[in-house]
Amino acid sequence: MSYYQIENLEEYFKHYKKSIREPKKFWGKIAEENFTWYQNWDKVLEGDLFQANVKWFSNAKLNIVKNCLDRHLSKRGNKNAIIFEPNNPDEPSQFITYNELYERVCKMANVLLEQGVKKGDRVCIYLPMIPELTISILACARIGAIHSVIFAGFSASALASRIEDCGAKLVITSDGAFRGNKVLDLKAIVDEALTQTPEVAKVLLVKRTNNKINIVPNRDLWVDDLLAAASSNSVAEVMDAEDPLFILYTSGSTGKPKGMLHTTAGYMVYVGYTFKNLFNYKEDDIFWCTADIGWITGHSYNLYGPLLNGATTVIFEGVPSYPDFGRFWQVIEKHKITQFYTAPTAIRALAKENLSFVDNHDLSSLRVLGSVGEPINEEAWHWYNNHVGQKKCPIIDTWWQTETGGVLISALPFITPTKPTYASLPLPGVLPVLMDDKRNEIDDNQVVGNLCIKQPWPGMARTIWGDHQRFIDTYFTAFPGKYFTGDGALRDEVGYYRITGRVDDVVIVSGHNLGTAPIEDAINEHPAVAESAIVGYPHDVKGNGLYGFVTLKEIGEYRDRNNLIKEINEQIATSIGPIAKLDKIQFVEGLPKTRSGKIMRRILRKIAEGDFSNFGDTSTLLDPEIVDKIKDGKI
Ligand code: ATP
Ligand code: MG
Repeated sequence: MSYYQIENLEEYFKHYKKSIREPKKFWGKIAEENFTWYQNWDKVLEGDLFQANVKWFSNAKLNIVKNCLDRHLSKRGNKNAIIFEPNNPDEPSQFITYNELYERVCKMANVLLEQGVKKGDRVCIYLPMIPELTISILACARIGAIHSVIFAGFSASALASRIEDCGAKLVITSDGAFRGNKVLDLKAIVDEALTQTPEVAKVLLVKRTNNKINIVPNRDLWVDDLLAAASSNSVAEVMDAEDPLFILYTSGSTGKPKGMLHTTAGYMVYVGYTFKNLFNYKEDDIFWCTADIGWITGHSYNLYGPLLNGATTVIFEGVPSYPDFGRFWQVIEKHKITQFYTAPTAIRALAKENLSFVDNHDLSSLRVLGSVGEPINEEAWHWYNNHVGQKKCPIIDTWWQTETGGVLISALPFITPTKPTYASLPLPGVLPVLMDDKRNEIDDNQVVGNLCIKQPWPGMARTIWGDHQRFIDTYFTAFPGKYFTGDGALRDEVGYYRITGRVDDVVIVSGHNLGTAPIEDAINEHPAVAESAIVGYPHDVKGNGLYGFVTLKEIGEYRDRNNLIKEINEQIATSIGPIAKLDKIQFVEGLPKTRSGKIMRRILRKIAEGDFSNFGDTSTLLDPEIVDKIKDGKI
């Protein structure tokens, strides 16, 4: 019996039981039958969550790029590995076959070797969403260098601190990036960052925008010149199962970003397996994940997951609003996308716009829709279901983290019945548990608890780069023997999980534990509301009061704010109960978000408390001006 693919609900339960009772047998079989190895492992699993010293597939030897490329060439050499859709719809799409991708990765691997990059060295990649980003990542992995991709939108100081933290000696960037109607000068940002990081000896430059840029002699080199002289013969480095594959910084929603380290074999097996099942992947599918490769979603489900399965993956350089709000839907129609995976923030933004943007496109190729990054509120879920999926496509609400490597809780399309606002059931190999603050397991239904994971899974991060103590303190100390996610959740009578938000954001009002997500969900049901974020603030009588920040779709008929506030509170009272009514509502122009599109509630909490002195690490904030506007009470 093969465990790689789950066909129906009965099989899901069967595989799930096996994976929990006999994880070594379960993952050992999946690893053996679906991946190629230079040498097999001695033990499937060693270590435990008490010690935070977990190892998967000890002493196995492999290279993840051989699994992503080399092994597909005989059967799928002429199949498209990548479809590149440029920022400007008038620029032709590019179709890169597995043969071509293989050759370009091999050449790039040789370029890196010639520049002195060795196994274990760190390479920072600061590139827009263009094929060279994927090629650079795979070239690093092919020679055993540790890639650290930094989203090409971060400022010079955010970039410098990440380069410094991971100790990179080489940076790969481009002469610029197209983003909507803007051209970003990435090279100038790199130049500024490098004034603070003298250890960087080389900068490799990809040509994209033809911007005039400053070239530092002996340091900056055009990749095209180096590629022209490079050989395409490349033997993939023999990597140990636990050799580092990449460092990736978290979004920074809750504080200073953490440089999560993922290793080779466990990550590969987990991401390959979860991609296949989460998206009901079939050989001729055209898969599109809109997340930037600079985030874990992009790493796992834009790049590694699809390529490990020999799939065709779309790399989109642009933004959902350019040249108009129909761009996503136009791309789906153009490439006949079968699976579409995006974030609630994008869905909410597009749902605000005229319906004709989506209705004017033929989306009939779609089979599966996915959501990731934040809880998807019920209104956005229905809009996604009705207008994008046309009620024919299951929506998977995938819960996971940079730390977890791959999705941990999600429905499986056509297998698990979906329920809006519930991520639903754990994937095989994942054993969630809800803990109360006294460290007891919660057995009751519909009670918010601390979401922990009780058993190691192959995709889990192994450490925070350079700070193992922070790794232990953050994830393995609050609930000994368990991985603590930092998120709150509740479980319904059939065992479905609903993520209620970050535990730090749970507000205790008059002794009741309230998650932020369900309250925001209720507020967003109001037809005038586009988005909302609620936080707690000290309240004389209740202990904590609820403070809501709300953005509106169109002000129009709701000019009367007092009436609107009343209606929003009525909505909350009906959906959750009068206990959750807001004490204060502030209408704002926008919410502070991370560059990955998540609401930064910790900043709103400070504003609600009237403490404007220290917002902590704000380097990952998308638009700092919004914070000032909210502070000043301007809409
Ligand atoms: P930091 O750890 O630096 O504060 P972050 O947690 O936002 O940043 P990520 O690893 O990108 O960084 O995000 C993981 C978090 O995103 C989860 O812990 C959870 O709070 C939220 N999340 C992701 N997917 C979902 C989902 N489907 N439903 C609810 N929340 C989600
Ligand atoms: Mg986090």
